[in-house]
Amino acid sequence: MPDPARTGIVTIGVRFWERALDVVFPQRCVGCNEFGNLICEKCARTMAPAAPPRCDVCWTPWNQWRVCRDCRTRRPAFQQMRAAFVYEGVTRDAVIALKFSGLSSIAPLMAGLIDERLSDWRPPVKAIVPVPLAAGRKRSRGYDQAEMIATELSKRWGLPCEPRALRRARGTEPQVDQVDESARRRNVKDAFSPGSRGVEGGVLLVDDVVTTGSTLDACANVLMQSGSGAVFALAFARED
Ligand SMILES: [Zn+2]
Ligand SMILES: [Zn+2]
Repeated sequence: MPDPARTGIVTIGVRFWERALDVVFPQRCVGCNEFGNLICEKCARTMAPAAPPRCDVCWTPWNQWRVCRDCRTRRPAFQQMRAAFVYEGVTRDAVIALKFSGLSSIAPLMAGLIDERLSDWRPPVKAIVPVPLAAGRKRSRGYDQAEMIATELSKRWGLPCEPRALRRARGTEPQVDQVDESARRRNVKDAFSPGSRGVEGGVLLVDDVVTTGSTLDACANVLMQSGSGAVFALAFARED
């Protein structure tokens, strides 16, 4: 078992050197490792867009009616969810770079790609709220990847970013480890609570990757109950 205090120090040390190296050496593409942009043009072209036909509510691949069977049986608390890309290939490399390699400078690029992909989707909202990370995870990493994407989007869309609108009430297991949808729902049930900052007039929830939407659904529920108005959701990538 590694000593958590010690690994913390090592992580900070490694991050310091990563940042220092970022300044000294030019950046490389997260997909092909070529010097230049963090996502080079060639790799950007390989990123699969999460394009229609999809359910108008949860954005799952679907081509029969406007709204998928799951959403008609049980409507999520959010009005609509959109994702820019399918979570695979270079898209996955970019998410992993932001999440695990401390490559925070990739967030503005990811927000730009979202903007480009979803240029005709502008939900009627007054604020942007990132899905909060468990406090321990944020501390060990030093920042929150959903919050970084949300901050960059808020600059582009001219909307306030309100990270304190939601609070992670307790830690949850990673959603990808849950066996099925009901397990995922159980895992996030009561995981979120209203934060110190109230929002109203419509809200856009932002996350980096979405698996089934049950985390977004849980967050949207809490926001709605605390008077946020209609909730829309957006992610950089979606696992299809
Ligand atoms: Zn590349
Ligand atoms: Zn649906």
